[in-house]
Amino acid sequence: MDVDTRLAEDWVRAIAAAVEREHEHLTELDSAIGDGDHGSNLRRGFTAVLAVLDGADGADSPSGPDAPDAGPGALLRTTGTTLISKVGGASGPLYGKAFRAIGAALPPPGQPPADAAGLGEALAAGLRAVRDLGRAAPGDKTLVDAWTPALDAYREAVAAGAGLPEAAAAAAAGAERGALDTVPLQARKGRASYLGPRSVGHQDPGARSTVLLFRALAGTTAARAAEKPGAPA
Ligand code: ADP
Ligand code: MG
Repeated sequence: MDVDTRLAEDWVRAIAAAVEREHEHLTELDSAIGDGDHGSNLRRGFTAVLAVLDGADGADSPSGPDAPDAGPGALLRTTGTTLISKVGGASGPLYGKAFRAIGAALPPPGQPPADAAGLGEALAAGLRAVRDLGRAAPGDKTLVDAWTPALDAYREAVAAGAGLPEAAAAAAAGAERGALDTVPLQARKGRASYLGPRSVGHQDPGARSTVLLFRALAGTTAARAAEKPGAPA
């Protein structure tokens, strides 16, 4: 399966839909160990991203019917830039940089599109961007604790010969395990770290939103795989 512009757009739209469904839960998690805005932060960010994708912000839509295909990398970079500009909380710059790095790691139009392995490299670049900016290591109770096992599971699946949908499903399961494993951790980065030992016993909100991101990738790639041959690409 190729990582083309439609796949990237479907993925981003699926994340936005998941955030819309789950924002109250994310905010609830952030109320326990943060300032209760993670759901509203991501909702604001992805609402703005959808506006850009729909061309409703007055700018030319990167994905409109008449737009030249700028490629999946450009779409993901735009997603990241929009998150950075619209989200005040820590998660905006972190996810924003991640999407920009994922986009930058994908081949430009005119070159062969990324396959499952290529997307794995791009997802790794996304995690590196999060870690460069936030300086969080695994075990610090952040979204790094979901993204790391997600990426490990994705790469393991690809190494074992899996295609994109299977690798993405493995990644979603890895993210889920990682997010649940943040419960007993004490936060060492971000607002939750101010609570010290009182941050123990709660799931990290950013790790939970990272699960949404990988589940959206799994759903999008599974839906693409289920399309009938001959359907419009
Ligand atoms: P804020 O903490 O500014 O209110 P959000 O509530 O939107 O921002 O996001 C909080 C989430 O951001 C945390 O649950 C955590 O997963 C993530 N986070 C915070 N700081 C860092 C960091 N330095 N590195 C990685 N992730 C971080
Ligand atoms: Mg917060």
